[in-house]
Amino acid sequence: MLKTLKILYHQGKQFIPDPTKAKVPGIFRGRPEISLQKVDELALADACPTNAINTNPVGLDLGKCTFCGECSRLFPGKIKFTTDYKISVNERERLIIYEGFVNQLTVNPDTVRKEIRKLFSGSLKLRQVSAAGDNSCELELNACGNVNFDMGRYGIEFVASPRHADGLVITGPISKNMAEPLQITYDATPSPKIIILAGTDAISGGIFEGSPAIDRRFIEDNRIDLYVPGNPVHPLTFINGLVDLLGIK
Ligand code: SF4
Repeated sequence: MLKTLKILYHQGKQFIPDPTKAKVPGIFRGRPEISLQKVDELALADACPTNAINTNPVGLDLGKCTFCGECSRLFPGKIKFTTDYKISVNERERLIIYEGFVNQLTVNPDTVRKEIRKLFSGSLKLRQVSAAGDNSCELELNACGNVNFDMGRYGIEFVASPRHADGLVITGPISKNMAEPLQITYDATPSPKIIILAGTDAISGGIFEGSPAIDRRFIEDNRIDLYVPGNPVHPLTFINGLVDLLGIK
């Protein structure tokens, strides 16, 4: 009995009381901060394997970043990653973090479609489409519904059929083979419906950007309601992005 109690005490709480205020370990790479320190900008940009860093001014595109940490390892005075996991936004350009910017990222309420908050803030059913994903983001999305993160407390759930869904969560860079199944799933989802891109591959193509094996016309042709960066996405990033998008207090 004493042994069991000791184990339970050691394990701590098995759920997160409030996912909007949770703390993550220091090794987590979340929102980067870029100082105004002068560095060799071209060398900094060259260090990035996914061309996520622009120069003059220095900007880091979270939609392209794989969070490998190489830039901050080589230029520790210039780029540091904080543990801030609230990095979801609803406008693509806001994923670019410029030097000197230290504010939190948020969903812009003025550009959220009105029907989203009106219809889905009490209940949101999502269909996940892995469009050539590598199972990392899919695994983390699955974790959103477990007892620890418990996304269901906000009325948000994944469902099996697009007919029962209010929107799609897309992972992966969208291979040519998955372009049509993605379109079919979207067409089968009743309107109004939302589109969420989860992870670097879905947002920009990630390391597959420019590959002839991917077909990203779906992203170009449809309005995206939420961008959730990460490689893979952290459940807290996904849940907080949705809480923000839906305007849940
Ligand atoms: S952490 Fe992101 S921006 Fe930095 S080198 Fe890696 S992919 Fe590029």
